[in-house]
Amino acid sequence: MMNLSKSAELFEKAGKLIPGGVNSPVRAFKSVGGIPPFIKRAEGAFIWDEDDNKYIDYIGSWGPMILGHTHPRVTTAIQKVVESGTSFGAPTEKEITLAQLIIDRVPGCEKVRLVNSGTEATMSAIRLARGFTGKDKIIKFEGCYHGHGDSFLIAAGSGALTLGEPNSPGVTKGTASDTLISRFNDPVSVEAVFEQYPEDIAGVIVEPVNGNTGCIPPENGFLDFLKNICHQYNSLLIFDEVMTGFRVAKGGAAEYYKVTPDLYTFGKVIGGGMPIGAFGGTMEIMEKIAPEGSVYQAGTLSGNPVAVTAGIETLKLLTDESYSILNQKGVYLSERIQSIIEEADYPLSQKRVGSMFSLYFYDEKISNTQDVAKCDFDAFNQFFHSLLEKGVFIAPSQFEAGFISLAHTEELLDATVEHVRSALESIFVEA
Ligand SMILES: *Cc1c(COP(=O)(O)O)cnc(C)c1O
Repeated sequence: MMNLSKSAELFEKAGKLIPGGVNSPVRAFKSVGGIPPFIKRAEGAFIWDEDDNKYIDYIGSWGPMILGHTHPRVTTAIQKVVESGTSFGAPTEKEITLAQLIIDRVPGCEKVRLVNSGTEATMSAIRLARGFTGKDKIIKFEGCYHGHGDSFLIAAGSGALTLGEPNSPGVTKGTASDTLISRFNDPVSVEAVFEQYPEDIAGVIVEPVNGNTGCIPPENGFLDFLKNICHQYNSLLIFDEVMTGFRVAKGGAAEYYKVTPDLYTFGKVIGGGMPIGAFGGTMEIMEKIAPEGSVYQAGTLSGNPVAVTAGIETLKLLTDESYSILNQKGVYLSERIQSIIEEADYPLSQKRVGSMFSLYFYDEKISNTQDVAKCDFDAFNQFFHSLLEKGVFIAPSQFEAGFISLAHTEELLDATVEHVRSALESIFVEA
């Protein structure tokens, strides 16, 4: 057994001071059980915990660390910028540089506003969609995560149709009634909502790759369908690219699938590991944001020079070639895992878009979160702990994606494949 004694001690201490001992729920390992390693440091594709266990990291801070940890250019730029001040509450030239880098890469994104997290970006984007269209309701998809704003903490209602219900105490019924729920990759479920509320829908928000159910790509034509139906009803299409932006392609999922939404939200990669978010879209829509327009949105630390610097350096390092390398790494890892699955005929399946991937403990068609719910979670949990013991850190939930970084060498991918092989053998063969 691996030694997690320091982490265990820290987890107990943290639990007395911080709810669940963590500052974001999934870190607590609630679904897989056990002690979450407390991390001391990271470098490249590796992280080390307080007991000096070393792991190949496929969480990558849940997406941002696409270059690998502590990339020297990013680290040096952060160190340097800190010396000239950490926050001013006044505009800086760096914010223009980051805005330009985003606008140059993302199709149809003509103006951006920087915020401090993905959650802020999605909250602001739906306010803007409502302000722009003068309508109140939004459609979201079951299984798509858009941060912890009230309007998104909504589950499908029990009725045959679509009225949402709060899925957290503290979210009011009033808020829930303005969020309508459809099924990812299910156009009929979207049509039904539009037909029921033809005048009321301000926008549809979607993860263009549903990365908060593992990694479910949009099926052929689904994103085009969303764009068409939104425009048919004078609603806005919002791509939540907090995870996919600058990850699945240089211009994100919009470039990858060649569908341009009206509004975008970003986060994760654009901060290079520092807290940041952004939302953007066409001139016409973005000029409704204060102070140019009347839709209010603000932030004391928005455009923070340290976060912006980390973002600038990260995006500058991500060239067209970077994405072809990331994709090759994704192909390499998934093909090798696929041959293990096929040789042994394991009841598993994989999904992958570029360097985002998921291994599902289920071997039938996976189109949305309802399908992921059919996975063998006990087997996943054993697999997770078995990999952790072997020094491979994947997300502690079947509903989370894995992320490959540019620092994951072929040698590390090979080592990962061998650990996957023996973890699967211990679950299926010895069981
Ligand atoms: C992570 C994530 C968010 C929330 O971003 P935070 O920075 O955690 O607030 C929103 N949308 C998607 C698609 C995400 O993956």
